[in-house]
Amino acid sequence: MAYDRSNVFARILRGEIPCKKVFEDTHVLAFNDINPQTPTHILVIPKGEYVSSDDFFEKASDAEIAAFMRAVGRIAREHGLAAPGYRILANHGRDAHQEVPHFHVHIFGGRDLGRMIGKAPG
Ligand code: AMP
Repeated sequence: MAYDRSNVFARILRGEIPCKKVFEDTHVLAFNDINPQTPTHILVIPKGEYVSSDDFFEKASDAEIAAFMRAVGRIAREHGLAAPGYRILANHGRDAHQEVPHFHVHIFGGRDLGRMIGKAPG
């Protein structure tokens, strides 16, 4: 799947639409999800053009991957989630209902998150 530069996260990265930024460095941007599912719901995205986790894990440089994973841990820690706990999640493709075709990790926290995975709809 080719990268679509009109996706909403690409537009956020270009500054065309606003976001509530919580972290930024050379390789990574993180911001609050516009439709939070938990008291803390942060999206962490690479600045590079990667469609999904599969694309990122295959093609990103070691520096990008290291920066990304360090950022996820740091953001969770800085939001007070390391002690009580949190969940990270990346949806890839149709079966996971990925909506935005720019790789992102969700950080969920701030309450008991229940069991690991829900039932499929229908
Ligand atoms: P996914 O299903 O993993 O692709 O999730 C996409 C996420 O992006 C959803 O949780 C949306 O609420 C979130 N989202 C969509 N547009 C925006 C936006 N403009 N700013 C922040 N979050 C957004």
